[in-house]
Amino acid sequence: MSNIISFNGTELSDTDSLIMSNGGTDVFINVLALSGSALAQAESEKRLAVYLSEKDQSAVGRGCVGFDIAEMPWNKSTFENDKKFMIGVINGARNKIGWEKLDYSPNTIIVLQYLDIFESLINKMTAEEIKEDFLIKWLSEASMTDPVNRGFPRCKRHNTFLTCFGCQICNS
Ligand SMILES: [Zn+2]
Repeated sequence: MSNIISFNGTELSDTDSLIMSNGGTDVFINVLALSGSALAQAESEKRLAVYLSEKDQSAVGRGCVGFDIAEMPWNKSTFENDKKFMIGVINGARNKIGWEKLDYSPNTIIVLQYLDIFESLINKMTAEEIKEDFLIKWLSEASMTDPVNRGFPRCKRHNTFLTCFGCQICNS
């Protein structure tokens, strides 16, 4: 069982996809959540961090959290900033931001491999590729009690943004 992050679903290939084991996916999302929650300032950045943390296999299902880069909640008006933010989040994860909050030690070699491929996929993203209806749909599906609609509360233990499923790190 695995989860696949691809650039967009119509271009599936081994060189264009990040294929992760289920256990590796939990770690990958843990480290991005820690880095993203530490670095996010603008609302659009917080949304991207929450979106990644929603890839929570304890809630969605093991092997059920793959997604396309082009379908992340990008926004054309803030895209260049948000893309830089995502690269910063990846670098933060490389620098182990927040790892001291984990009760285990991630396998650095595997995490770095995943981060390298993820970075190449993010680097491919352009404003032209944005599916604007995805952000609208994602926000419209969030209930009024969803964290994205009530000021982005954080986990007290991990200081990471909560999602509609709670804290992805506590859950995993
Ligand atoms: Zn937590």
